[in-house]
Amino acid sequence: MDVVLHVGIDDTDSLLGGCTTYVAAVLVEKLAKLNVEFQDYPALIRLNPNIPWKTRGNGAVALRVKTRVEHTDKIKCEVLRTVESLSQPGEDVDPAVVFLSGAIPNEVKRFSKMALYDFLNVDFALKTAGECGVEVFASKSLKGVVGALAAVGEELQDDYTYELLTYRTDNYRGMPRMVSAESVFLMDKVTSPTTFNNLDPETKRILITPRGPDPVLYGIRGEDPTVLLEAMKIVNIYEPIERWVIFRTNQGTDAHLKWMENPKDVKPYRAVAFKAVVCGKPHVIPGGHVIFKVAFKNEVFDCAAYEPTGGFRETVKKLIPGDVVEIYGGVRPLNGAMTINLEKIRVVSLAKEVKYFNPKCPKCNSTMKSMGHDKGFKCEKCGFKDSNMRKLEFETSRGIEPGLYIPPPRAQRHLTKPFSRYGLEKKNVECKFIDFWHVP
Ligand SMILES: [Zn+2]
Repeated sequence: MDVVLHVGIDDTDSLLGGCTTYVAAVLVEKLAKLNVEFQDYPALIRLNPNIPWKTRGNGAVALRVKTRVEHTDKIKCEVLRTVESLSQPGEDVDPAVVFLSGAIPNEVKRFSKMALYDFLNVDFALKTAGECGVEVFASKSLKGVVGALAAVGEELQDDYTYELLTYRTDNYRGMPRMVSAESVFLMDKVTSPTTFNNLDPETKRILITPRGPDPVLYGIRGEDPTVLLEAMKIVNIYEPIERWVIFRTNQGTDAHLKWMENPKDVKPYRAVAFKAVVCGKPHVIPGGHVIFKVAFKNEVFDCAAYEPTGGFRETVKKLIPGDVVEIYGGVRPLNGAMTINLEKIRVVSLAKEVKYFNPKCPKCNSTMKSMGHDKGFKCEKCGFKDSNMRKLEFETSRGIEPGLYIPPPRAQRHLTKPFSRYGLEKKNVECKFIDFWHVP
């Protein structure tokens, strides 16, 4: 009898390097040799990016394979051995692996949806796993169980994208990545918008190559696995590739931004979205960050556009009290108050901004002076007085239009849906499982 085995892995990467996706890529090769039947691409599931002890990327992986029931123990052993041998040594390493056989229970699916935006604790993960017959292998704090279980339960049935990841050979890791920038510009020109966030238009920075010592050489994100293969052919590199794999992922989908109707649900570390009214003028604080206040029903929150969001801050600075906006971002507790770290903002409607001027004298055309509130104006030059004159009102141009504003790609979270994906969202789109999706 055959069975589908779901494998979830998280937190094998330390801050020094390593990468959970690399473990998955190695496992693809090893499990393929055990003659399993892959049910899907490996899943790269990005989870709530606001968890304090996680890196910005907060990602976990899942593999789904069909095998003979009597072979499952052999597969589980191979997975555990591989995770053990590839986990980077260090204090912050906390690998967790979970196994689930058969259909995914609804409780696990619900857990996954919550892990996208909420701050879930290990006890809740262990309880859910226990109730659903999920086997858990973890050590130390067990923190990785949250991500591993969430990855297993996320089947990517809503919007999704792909990422082709290439990995460096051992002796090149830690050295500058030898990828031709010109070829990346060309690849972007040829394949976008079916690929996205290859570069940052504002700074011309290449975004497909990570910084830091992890084994990834580059990753190309896109809508379709075949276009990723085409893109890989265009990118020129001057170092060997150890392996490459196409992942299916929730990157670039906004899956984490949970729409809130009640301000009480805006809790620390959640990823949230809500409609609000600007109630304080934006101001710039040291470091170049822009802060302003919004009222969400009867509660007031600080919103922040941080310095790395670049030109996005110029838009935010133009907001004034009375503007209606949709706020998208992560909740950070700060000095007892809560600050929304903005990932995007939609300006729904703009308040009128009026400037007042003193009238000109009808006799000599010099600027008149007020005789006091509601008491009219007098001309100091020729002495003309008019007690019925009032200040002149001019509606000023706001220099901003209603619409959606997103920080540049270099400042986006992995989960943030970039401009180029609007209109390309997948809904009930069956995943195209091509034959050639990994080497070796
Ligand atoms: Zn005058």
